Amino acid sequence: MATDSVSRGDFLHSKTVSATHPPKIFFVVPCCNEEAVLVHTANVLEVKYQQLVQKTAISRDSRIIFVDDGSKDQTWSIIHKLHEGNEKLFGGVRLAHNRGHQNALYAGLMCALKEGCDAAISMDADLQDDVGIVEKFIEHYVKGDEIVFGVRSARKKDTWFKKTSAEIFYKVFSWMGAETVPNHADYRLMSRVALEALSEYQEVNLFLRGIVPMLGFRTSKVYYERGERVAGDSKYPLKKMIAFAVQGITSFSTRPLSFVTFAGSVSVLVGFLMFVYVLVSLFAGKAIAGWGSLMCSVWMIGGFIMLSLGIVGEYVGKIYLEVKHRPRYCIETEL
Ligand code: UDP
Ligand code: MG
Repeated sequence: MATDSVSRGDFLHSKTVSATHPPKIFFVVPCCNEEAVLVHTANVLEVKYQQLVQKTAISRDSRIIFVDDGSKDQTWSIIHKLHEGNEKLFGGVRLAHNRGHQNALYAGLMCALKEGCDAAISMDADLQDDVGIVEKFIEHYVKGDEIVFGVRSARKKDTWFKKTSAEIFYKVFSWMGAETVPNHADYRLMSRVALEALSEYQEVNLFLRGIVPMLGFRTSKVYYERGERVAGDSKYPLKKMIAFAVQGITSFSTRPLSFVTFAGSVSVLVGFLMFVYVLVSLFAGKAIAGWGSLMCSVWMIGGFIMLSLGIVGEYVGKIYLEVKHRPRYCIETEL
């Protein structure tokens, strides 16, 4: 498929979902050093799978894929054992080294696409995402939504710091002109069509929470309360969280570069006003020798340097957007 456009081709891929043809859903779970929780998570997901199959909500061919993101503990051997115990249900993908949650998730989603899923549900290994809303995800999908976002209704269990920093991040992200779904982490359902569109985004600095809303299509939200981690420790310490936020902003916005142009223009303007002020004070006989010319030079030269940097930045920003080779548009329907 060309990188320019993504054709949904409804007439080819229309959902043939019914009680006799329930969708083939793949659960994609990235795991990094999750030995403490993995067996429990697999059990919970297996029970969920059985319930959904019984209700004919999902096909028997549905699968659970664990992506081992370069774990150093027993994670991969647990995944291996789960696969040996039930080859049809449990699948595993092992990354050669730790590439981070977003890359691990993307790898799993692309595998699900390759293996012919109708839709994939991504969730964390620690069961913080409420498995109880999976039915709702599937209901929305069957009704025609291509992407269903799991959104946290309240952050009651979060610390004040985590809650406030998240709010600030969503505000800054939207000021920067990037689109995101507030309080949505990576718990979502994506249909095959949406996954195909996602596969057209070839950027290396992945920030899926920014890319997925950009895809468009018919989307919906399902609200849930996020629980505590079942076992093990968070793999997202403060340092990684900040890096992730910076990654998100710099991957989606060149506005910081435009701020430099703006600041440069303001500085030149101040320099000009300073010049007028110096002239006025000179004629009024109140000028202090040397001060005026010095201040004018500082503001003017500083401003011109900043403005020049900003102009270079505008071009760098354009180059940055070009090298990402993002598709220009996604076609939803063709007649
Ligand atoms: N994870 C990963 N690679 C990493 C860090 C995390 O695959 O480098 C996975 C991790 O195993 C979990 C999910 O990403 O399934 C979210 O991580 P975690 O629950 O530790 O983050 P938190 O919920 O504390 O923000
Ligand atoms: Mg977690």
